[in-house]
Amino acid sequence: MKKNTLQLLSVILALFFTGTVTSNAQEIKKDGFETSIGTLTIHHVGHASLWFEVNDKVIHIDPFGQMGDYASMPKADLILITHEHGDHLDAGTIELISKENTQIFINQAGFDALKKGNVLENGDKTEGLGWKISAVPAYNIVHKREDGTAYHPEGRGNGYVIEFGDTKVYVAGDTENIPEMKDLGKIDIAFLPMNLPYTMSPEMCKEAALMVMPTVLFPYHYKMGETDTQKFAQLMEEVDEIEVRFRQ
Ligand code: ZN
Ligand code: ZN
Repeated sequence: MKKNTLQLLSVILALFFTGTVTSNAQEIKKDGFETSIGTLTIHHVGHASLWFEVNDKVIHIDPFGQMGDYASMPKADLILITHEHGDHLDAGTIELISKENTQIFINQAGFDALKKGNVLENGDKTEGLGWKISAVPAYNIVHKREDGTAYHPEGRGNGYVIEFGDTKVYVAGDTENIPEMKDLGKIDIAFLPMNLPYTMSPEMCKEAALMVMPTVLFPYHYKMGETDTQKFAQLMEEVDEIEVRFRQ
């Protein structure tokens, strides 16, 4: 009797681990872009997690362990954390992908939780691995918690603009279509979040896209089956200047 129970348990465990392995083994989608400093490869891990590779240097953005098998990914030369929420700041995964000289840039509330990294406030500009990095605002105007506070209050979280030579990449973080998006200058590649209630509806995401006007737009931070990605695709059909790529 006891033996049977154990056998059943091991079968259940085997099934569980098979499922886990399969999902971890799912191929991470990637895109390549030619820049003035070499090929930039963007790896779409899932949700808000990305990693970039250029000239053998690796940047991880909001690495979140639930989104992929980070043990099998290259370690980070640079880590950018947009804000302190659990799907963006995952201390264990940051530890896992860090090496001796890994640089971390993070918002203040994230630093308070992680206790390491270099704090960047909205508007701060710095250099990481020789690339210009700007921290830009990311916040909610419309979407708030029941107690009236915004999911992402103004001034707390960051989006980042990273310049890889002549190619400017904007990773918006958790934000709505805020007016500051008009002031980013020419953006080549943009990541804009789309999920409710925390970030943007498809309509809001289109408004954001029209302010940023990237050449290539990757909607991100959405959930298949919950976020109306088809609606967004439809809305963007009339905007010829922007190529929308879904990668999640
Ligand atoms: Zn958030
Ligand atoms: Zn988020």
